[in-house]
Amino acid sequence: MRIGAPAEREDGERRVVLTPEACKKLIGLGHEVVVEEGAGAKAGHPDAAYVTAGAEVVDTATAWGAPLVLRINPLLVDDVARLSEGATVLGLLYGHARPEVVEALAARKVTFLALERIPRSTIAQSFDVLSSMANIAGYRAVIEAAAELGTFLGPQMTAAGKKPPARVLVIGAGVAGLAAIGAARALGAEVRAFDTRDAVKDEVSSLGASFLELDFEETGDGGGGYAKVMSEAFIEAEMALFLAQAPQVDIVITTALIPGRPAPRLWTTEHVEAMKPGSVVVDLAAIQGGNCDETVPGEKAEHAGVKILGYTDLVSRMAGDASRFFANNLVNLLKFAGKGLDPGELALSPENTTLGPALVLVDGVEPPPPPPAPPAPKRPEPPRHAPAVEPEVPAPQSRTRDALLSLGAALGLFALGVNAPSELVGHLTVFVLACFVGWQVIWNVSPALHTPLMAVTNAISGIILVGGMLQAGLGTTSWATALGGVAILLATINVVGGFMVTQRMLAMFRKEG
Ligand code: NAD
Repeated sequence: MRIGAPAEREDGERRVVLTPEACKKLIGLGHEVVVEEGAGAKAGHPDAAYVTAGAEVVDTATAWGAPLVLRINPLLVDDVARLSEGATVLGLLYGHARPEVVEALAARKVTFLALERIPRSTIAQSFDVLSSMANIAGYRAVIEAAAELGTFLGPQMTAAGKKPPARVLVIGAGVAGLAAIGAARALGAEVRAFDTRDAVKDEVSSLGASFLELDFEETGDGGGGYAKVMSEAFIEAEMALFLAQAPQVDIVITTALIPGRPAPRLWTTEHVEAMKPGSVVVDLAAIQGGNCDETVPGEKAEHAGVKILGYTDLVSRMAGDASRFFANNLVNLLKFAGKGLDPGELALSPENTTLGPALVLVDGVEPPPPPPAPPAPKRPEPPRHAPAVEPEVPAPQSRTRDALLSLGAALGLFALGVNAPSELVGHLTVFVLACFVGWQVIWNVSPALHTPLMAVTNAISGIILVGGMLQAGLGTTSWATALGGVAILLATINVVGGFMVTQRMLAMFRKEG
């Protein structure tokens, strides 16, 4: 397939939809890539780098005229006129808000895959551009806020004086909020966060921030991990909680959004006026109307000595990384769409449960609704600043179950003690106690420590291996030999599995070559 990468020309935009590295990967998949002249210049990629990667550098009309066009910014009606009839486009659309663009695309018989409509499932994680961009926006929000605040974020204790850490409040702990928490914590700030969804509480705490709680019985989970509109009473209680926080915090980062709705107003003029002069608010919801009354989308505003940053180009301020992540997401998507096909071929079908829901138009026609997708599993290991989703802390029922199991084991031991030889009872007692203590210890380890815990279990498996080998080597009774063999097998699986998981985790942090 011939893939076109036109330049992004919107005001303040510095990103490019394909990096030279991504072009190389696409060419490796059997595609042909044409990139508009100068498209990557602002993201640090000169035309020559694209030529070296094997792409062709072409004029505007040729880039737009390719059968498959990739795009970051939502198309305008004028852009649609540049597409060739029957072309396929992969990009953000937000069609519900721009019906005139959808009409123009339909008239041109375009097939459009709207990236924002791909279900946020584990399988689609590697091509989730919303998460990649939100992660960058959250990080950059902290950098911008720190620059405006003009003070250390972390605590200082020097001969010249002491300074406590800056206090940061993050409202909304989705992908961007969690990235902001991670970045602010990494700089040493004291962070607190609030979200209407209780599910994020553990993720917030495992990043070292404190989760603010409301004494209010209402869940904010609207299904699929997204938030729902809260009752007026809840929002009132939430705003009262924020009013108490306002004089204490130096930076507020608001990221609260509800899909398909204007951003909820949570940080009013009264909240701004309650803050210390010199404090900073960064409103990441600015593009959807803003969470703060004083936000001017795209601008830096000031009210009562507080700076309110409503920048809508935060991601573009990190154009190099943002382009790389966006382009990698698209390469992953195209790999997925070409799986099992001949090199250079793609299949975008409305029946596909992952890509189907994102096909807004097929040859200019709205496809029938796809079959319902399986429920989205809980998000596994998210990007760098986001926390690891680890096994949940046991619920009260599972604690009761543990207690019953222990009681059962104790009764079993007692019954055995009456009949069995004392040596066997001794061994069994140690075995049951080891299982029980191990179980309790592992369940009570904080999720943030699960990775080091894996190393410890590997070490224990190593000891079991040695014990198993000694036992199997004795060759006394057939039972002992057999059990020693089983121990060797299970411990080996644990050790090898541990190394494999560690390798996979390390690979996530390695630079792609
Ligand atoms: P978002 O941008 O839609 O919303 C940001 C946050 O604002 C959400 O956490 C929401 O609960 C919160 N919010 C809404 N109203 C609020 C209020 N009144 N007060 C405080 N907070 C409020 O969220 P997102 O970052 O797009 O993530 C949405 C969901 O999708 C999350 O559950 C996330 O874990 C999930 N997700 C899953 C995957 C995956 O499985 N691949 C990838 C990314 C995100």
